[in-house]
Amino acid sequence: MHKPGYPLLGGLLLTLLGGLLIGYLFDRTLLLALIAVVGWGLWQIWQFRRLYQWILAENSRDLPSFRGKWDDLAYALYRRQREARQRERNLRQVIARFRQSSAALSDAIVILDRNDHPEWWNKAAETLLGLNAPADQHRSLLNILRDPRFIHYYQNGAYQEGLELPSPRDPQITLLYNITLYGEGDRLLVARDITRLKRLEQTRQTFVANASHELRTPLTVMRGYIETFMDQDLPPPLHRALARMEQQSQRMEHLVRDLLLLSRLESDQPLHTNQVVEMAPLLKRILRDAQTLSGEKQHHITLHLNTDQDLFGQEGELHSAFSNLVFNAVRYTPAGSCIDLIWEADAEGGRLCVIDTGPGIAAHHLPRLTERFYRVDESRASESGGTGLGLSIVKHVLVRHNAQLKIDSAPGQGSRFCCHFPPNLLVAQRDDQKGASRS
Ligand code: ADP
Repeated sequence: MHKPGYPLLGGLLLTLLGGLLIGYLFDRTLLLALIAVVGWGLWQIWQFRRLYQWILAENSRDLPSFRGKWDDLAYALYRRQREARQRERNLRQVIARFRQSSAALSDAIVILDRNDHPEWWNKAAETLLGLNAPADQHRSLLNILRDPRFIHYYQNGAYQEGLELPSPRDPQITLLYNITLYGEGDRLLVARDITRLKRLEQTRQTFVANASHELRTPLTVMRGYIETFMDQDLPPPLHRALARMEQQSQRMEHLVRDLLLLSRLESDQPLHTNQVVEMAPLLKRILRDAQTLSGEKQHHITLHLNTDQDLFGQEGELHSAFSNLVFNAVRYTPAGSCIDLIWEADAEGGRLCVIDTGPGIAAHHLPRLTERFYRVDESRASESGGTGLGLSIVKHVLVRHNAQLKIDSAPGQGSRFCCHFPPNLLVAQRDDQKGASRS
């Protein structure tokens, strides 16, 4: 690095020396030395003033010429100024490119500060969310997007999942909102137009629902004929064939029933119910059905009612969900195994767990178990008589009840399927039910 030293000191000393020398020659040593030093000082002040003016001038582009060290100083300043201008130009280009590309995006993007004010947004945010510059820059986003569901999602802070809502500009457009937290309390809001996707999804749901519905009548007719023929006195091979046909048509009926239930669960509005589901009678009914299903396999099925609490919910749906879990335990565990059905509650909410001592499920299957027609073991599944939709139904019912399914299982160690209900769905059991449920 270049060492600055004492830049003006050398010049001052030389001037002083020159003044003294000339003063000595003319016998005016001190006077001429003083004149030389003052002159030198004035000259420095003049140089400094020029430099100062050049720095302060707004469009100071060309560098004027200076003398001595002032020239070095001016050039160093000039170089720094040029570099800073270049950096600024590059940054402007980056910002312009970012603006162009974000304007071309079909997703609405809004950058929010910690006071929930929109700091910046792209063109799509104006068309999809109705943001207006510059007025909206000084308003809270919650005064612009006033849907209570959005406000709850925004304030709740649980942004792992997106939120689907109609656009505030056009209710025909469905938007998927996603929020990301970054920096110190800043948020990035992205809203994607999923109208087309929603329509496709609805078309698929309607198709499955219609197709299942249409299959019902021919199936009922076929089963009716099969049962009539089975009552006849027929040769054993024919009887066996009819029995197999009866079994398969029953399977198809179950499939159609589950497909219809699933499309209803998917298309119904979110559940808002104050219907109380009495857990004890419901679970006892399921227990009896499970014992019937187990039949000769003689599973040891035990019901543990560890709480008096009941649930707000839809009884038919909860019956489907719980019975699917218990029937799976019966179907997938060997004869004579133990199955526990536990209903308990604490400050975290209610839990309905079905625990079996069956073969268990390998970890890599667990995340996919609730997909439609996902089976761990195809050969075992066809014997079991399941439709492949059981756990998918369970998941949908629980989502509609704001509840969650948690699965713990490992090969050789049995399985544990638990439905977790939030505390606000719990309701104290009616007094007249208390005695009855324990009996
Ligand atoms: P299915 O009608 O085939 O039973 P489900 O959606 O109910 O369909 O279950 C999906 C798969 O999960 C089943 O095919 C089975 O392989 C596995 N499964 C479900 N419950 C259990 C259990 N209790 N023990 C072992 N495997 C299970």
